[in-house]
Amino acid sequence: VSFESLKLPEYLLNTLKNKGYATPTPIQTLAIPRVLDGQDVIGVAQTGTGKTAAFALPIIMQLNAAPTDDFDPQVLAVAPTRELAVQVAAAFATYSNLSPRKIRVVSVIGGVDLEDQSRALSRGADVVVATPGRLLDLLERDWLCLSRVQTLVLDEADKLLNLGFADELDALLNALPVNRQNLLFSATFSPKVEGLCARFLSDPVRVEV
Ligand code: AMP
Repeated sequence: VSFESLKLPEYLLNTLKNKGYATPTPIQTLAIPRVLDGQDVIGVAQTGTGKTAAFALPIIMQLNAAPTDDFDPQVLAVAPTRELAVQVAAAFATYSNLSPRKIRVVSVIGGVDLEDQSRALSRGADVVVATPGRLLDLLERDWLCLSRVQTLVLDEADKLLNLGFADELDALLNALPVNRQNLLFSATFSPKVEGLCARFLSDPVRVEV
């Protein structure tokens, strides 16, 4: 399987070539077509399998297909740790560097000045990558509006639950529009993760590597 056969556009093919990615990884081959179809996806994959690109690449395509000049994000990715959130934000920025439409990525993580983050958001964001605690903090202050979110990513869902973020995630659910695409990635598919899927996803397809 090649990136071309996954129907990625020229600008992404060039970026991937520049990064030295020769072929898609299995999770990318399985997930990218599903995401592009608009389906909810459960991706069971460990870190290191290329799962970030499996959601970031099709999301960048979707953002280019339906450009808006909204200030509020169309994509929310939730990650369990600051380190992972920063990595995911960097991946969106890197993969979109040749994108026809500039993709504005803002990370919302603990340990960073809250007002600085609020200012970054007020300049406009297409993609917000957040850790749960700081995300809820901004939501409660009305400094972030999620009513325009079209795609939600829950990354490392098993770790989100293991770190005790179940309540934060349920509160987040209330701030999201009902109609949205949901992508959940997890290294394991435990009963708890299955429960989270039942609450967040609708008619998901599960892909596993
Ligand atoms: P992840 O599982 O998303 O943390 O990605 C693991 C590593 O694999 C990252 O350093 C990516 O840059 C790299 N990577 C992702 N997709 C590919 C690919 N198709 N070919 C080679 N490397 C990749």
